Amino acid sequence: MIWNPELECMDRAARKRLQFARLKNLVEHVYNAVPFYRQKFDAAGVKPSDITCIADIAKLPFTTKSDLRETYPYGLLAVPQSEIVEVHMSSGTTGTPVVDAYTDSDLNDWAEAMARSLAGAGACKNDTIQNAYGYGLFTGGMGVHHGTRKLGATIVPISSGNTEKQLAMLRDFKSSVFTCTPSYALYMAERAKELGIDLKALPVRAGIFGAEPWSEGMRIKIEEEWGIKAYDIYGLTEITGPGVACECEAQNGMHVNEDLFYPEIINPETGEPLPDGEKGELVFTTLTKQGTPLIRYRTRDITFIMDEECGCGRTTRRIHRLFGRTDDMMIIRGVNVFPSQVENALVGIKGVEPNYLITLNRNPNTHLDEAELQVEVSAEAFSDETKNLEALRANIDAVMKSKLGIHLKIKLVEPKTIERFTGKSKRVIDNRKL
Ligand code: ADP
Ligand code: ZN
Repeated sequence: MIWNPELECMDRAARKRLQFARLKNLVEHVYNAVPFYRQKFDAAGVKPSDITCIADIAKLPFTTKSDLRETYPYGLLAVPQSEIVEVHMSSGTTGTPVVDAYTDSDLNDWAEAMARSLAGAGACKNDTIQNAYGYGLFTGGMGVHHGTRKLGATIVPISSGNTEKQLAMLRDFKSSVFTCTPSYALYMAERAKELGIDLKALPVRAGIFGAEPWSEGMRIKIEEEWGIKAYDIYGLTEITGPGVACECEAQNGMHVNEDLFYPEIINPETGEPLPDGEKGELVFTTLTKQGTPLIRYRTRDITFIMDEECGCGRTTRRIHRLFGRTDDMMIIRGVNVFPSQVENALVGIKGVEPNYLITLNRNPNTHLDEAELQVEVSAEAFSDETKNLEALRANIDAVMKSKLGIHLKIKLVEPKTIERFTGKSKRVIDNRKL
């Protein structure tokens, strides 16, 4: 279902005009209302009047995570604080938290973006949406919550954790749509098995999963274990939270809510804009946000823009499933490695679970990086003979070497020994002092 055909299926030229009109307003407003932006624009020698078409956005300076940290908590407010009705903070995967402050109109836009996302995954008024994203300062819980209200569906605001209760609520409320991080969806499948609960017999038909990187292989696994369609959703606190982009029934790239959030891809080293189809760092400008508008915010997320029209009828451009972030990219002996590549390789190997932990150390004598990959063996493989386990280890070693181009020390661990997460998972421990 398409929630807002007028804006989601808009003629592309008309959308560009709308984006330009909004950008122009935004740039003028922040130049006058936020000293931080005025100083930045002045330092870059750019004035609001220099913006004469949407492509002129490239003249504007970037905003970065450190700008947000330095102005914590309210330095970027573009309205009087009395207009702010809700605040959120990022979960701080990468350090000091950053703040998003919403006016009533901002909350409405967020709910709109989320309602579109839920509808894109097939949800409607008749559905019951069980929301296992964490409630609180994290945007996941409240984002789905606001969007569900707008959609008019029933929300079960259970928040994250308490897996047995989750399973009981799925059954009792006949939840048809389930939302959480992909790693938690897999963990729930594992718990359900232990408890003798058949997930496929539950009324859930779709899951909307995001907030952390996952792979196509993980999608297949979740879809099989749950007997549902698993949709990818993207967002970040700085821009609004979840709902910046979400998949439609085609499950092939996430439609960006472009009338609200203007996407660009840049070369992360030079800052140069890249054409659609080329992989680089995703940058967003919030076109309608009032509380804490962001101009050309560098997300550090890596993807490319898919320009081709989608069969679903939406004309918004899509972003490809994320490849990781510039800062979760590990550089191991000079080779760039993303945890998502490791995960992708693991899901193709029989006898292991996609639960893993990468530990990086630097050998004090050789000064070389040493990377250890702990992989959980499946229960069946674990009961096998030792020589089979050794063959499994050697196989993983060979697969990793060919897919990543470097050698990882593979350590097999017993089933269910790697920590499980109800929210975002942590897959890398970097002990190197660089
Ligand atoms: P942080 O994790 O930086 O504290 P957030 O909680 O706002 O901040 O998380 C936003 C980040 O989560 C994104 O920038 C992106 O790296 C990651 N993320 C969100 N959704 C997805 C997704 N569907 N696929 C991959 N990564 C995602
Ligand atoms: Zn589509």
